[in-house]
Amino acid sequence: MGDCLFCKIVERKVPATVVYEDDHTVAFDDIHPQAPVHALVIPKRHVVAVRDCGEEDEALLGKLLLTCAKVARLKGVADSGYRIVTNTGKDGGQTVFHLHFHVTGGRPMRWPPG
Ligand code: AMP
Ligand code: ZN
Repeated sequence: MGDCLFCKIVERKVPATVVYEDDHTVAFDDIHPQAPVHALVIPKRHVVAVRDCGEEDEALLGKLLLTCAKVARLKGVADSGYRIVTNTGKDGGQTVFHLHFHVTGGRPMRWPPG
């Protein structure tokens, strides 16, 4: 997608601190971290949000969650615990319309979220 910020990060046209990459996913540090660890895990292929996924995306969604777990290990929060969040649409608080999972940790996460 020509004007998608996260597609540009995948293509390295916009700089990011990439912490993990494989054939289908990329993870990088969030530019405005909300916790000591705050990474974003995205598919390389442009997908808007979970609600836009179909049966054909089953493997990709599984891979994204496994990448979240890998990133948590790489960031050293696997044992202490962490949160995985994907905001969807207006009420979900989504601001970048390329599917992404937030991986946050390094402090206790509050519940319920705002
Ligand atoms: P959301 O509000 O769930 O769509 O999350 C979008 C996230 O992308 C926010 O946490 C932003 O801080 C983050 N973000 C926006 N631009 C960049 C960027 N250039 N590099 C890294 N993270 C970004
Ligand atoms: Zn995109």
